[in-house]
Amino acid sequence: MTESGANPGAAAVRAYVGVGSNLDDPLRRVGRAFAALAELRDTRCVARSSLYRSPALGDAPQPEYINAVALLETRLSALELLDELLAIEARHGRVRRPGERWGPRTLDLDLLLYGAHRYSDPRLTVPHPEMVRRDFVLYPMSEIDPGLVIPGVGSLRDCLRRCPPRGLQRVENRDENATP
Ligand code: ATP
Ligand code: MG
Ligand code: MG
Repeated sequence: MTESGANPGAAAVRAYVGVGSNLDDPLRRVGRAFAALAELRDTRCVARSSLYRSPALGDAPQPEYINAVALLETRLSALELLDELLAIEARHGRVRRPGERWGPRTLDLDLLLYGAHRYSDPRLTVPHPEMVRRDFVLYPMSEIDPGLVIPGVGSLRDCLRRCPPRGLQRVENRDENATP
């Protein structure tokens, strides 16, 4: 083990991260989140999806989201990576209100997949238990790897067939898709 906690001898794991924002200039913020992911220790960002506009989940009115997915190769453990993601959220001013679910947020970084691992404890469940029901996760992921298999679930293609897009729109403007 290195001082950073990573194991340089271990093979890097392919980890998918879902990125979402609906407050304080979400387009720019998602671009900055991609940049922060690319700078994580012991980690490379190997692919990123386009950006998508998506209506908010839940009944409370709130602004639409910008969503995207990044593919990382990392030597961090799943829990180390989760801590890094929560630290990036905190640097973006993410505030969690007790009892609030799916409220508006500056930045949400969810660990969707950590290689072929299936893992659950009070802090982390991978694969992310809601991802198979979320168009704003599945469609960006299929841009990166349409042949992906979701551990314990099955093919991404089958998930997409069961999850038609629900108001999801790809951001077409190249400037808006560019990393600032
Ligand atoms: P959802 O998880 O349904 O997308 P959310 O992203 O709004 O909801 P958060 O408030 O961001 O939920 O996360 C609450 C807690 O969920 C985090 O503190 C984290 O410990 C835990 N958690 C469990 N599994 C995961 C995961 N795969 N990725 C990110 N956080 C997770
Ligand atoms: Mg989330
Ligand atoms: Mg989250």
